[in-house]
Amino acid sequence: MRLVFLGPPGAGKGTIAAKAKEVFSIPHISTGDLFRENIRKETELGLRVKSILASGDLVPDEVTIAMVDQRLREDDAIKGFILDGFPRTIAQADALADMSGLDRVVNFVLDKEAIVRRLSGRRVCKSTGRTYHILYNPPKVDGIDDETGEPLIQRDDDKEEAIRNRLDVYEASTAPLIAYYREKGLLVDIDASPSPDEVLKALVEALG
Ligand code: ADP
Ligand code: ADP
Repeated sequence: MRLVFLGPPGAGKGTIAAKAKEVFSIPHISTGDLFRENIRKETELGLRVKSILASGDLVPDEVTIAMVDQRLREDDAIKGFILDGFPRTIAQADALADMSGLDRVVNFVLDKEAIVRRLSGRRVCKSTGRTYHILYNPPKVDGIDDETGEPLIQRDDDKEEAIRNRLDVYEASTAPLIAYYREKGLLVDIDASPSPDEVLKALVEALG
């Protein structure tokens, strides 16, 4: 199964992908996670994109496309994948079409107030990328990752000003992909507002 998870930041794509990858036995490929891993390791790519991620702008298409092209050539992606956060522009979608066919594009639908609530309460474990929410999915011990025991942090781009910018960037650059994939007959809309387990169930049913 070759899937794209599309939707605004904070809609729950990463949370559902972490569960769906077990159901479908395919890797979860998140471009945001790949960039953050490069930033943590201070690679050349990481140094180049650090301030872009902090502001909530998009990394240039050619950089992002090259990174995904390389990742999709790895062995585990042969049997399928969940692409989470890619493509985010029409140019990226055109490039993806040259790299691979797709079975479905899942569009996570959530209203703006809920998006802002989810983003502003998101907390992450820096080393593993595991995601929590202070109200909706709290860790067992306040502020501490359940498995590593490390302190949880708030991403720079989950602070108020960057959130506003990211929602504008989503509307301008990424939302047009909904029509792009609908026209190709690939789009499946999923209501992202219920609990993660309910969203996962609806997703599995929709994908058959
Ligand atoms: P969220 O989970 O909130 O949607 P991501 O983790 O997917 O955020 O992405 C974080 C940041 O990484 C983006 O704001 C952007 O700067 C960069 N990024 C991720 N994916 C892409 C992409 N496909 N194209 C350009 N930039 C990207
Ligand atoms: P995305 O990858 O689309 O940016 P995340 O999966 O990181 O979104 O989720 C954003 C925030 O919302 C996280 O704090 C996460 O714990 C929380 N969250 C995700 N899915 C749900 C849900 N179905 N109900 C409530 N909170 C959720």
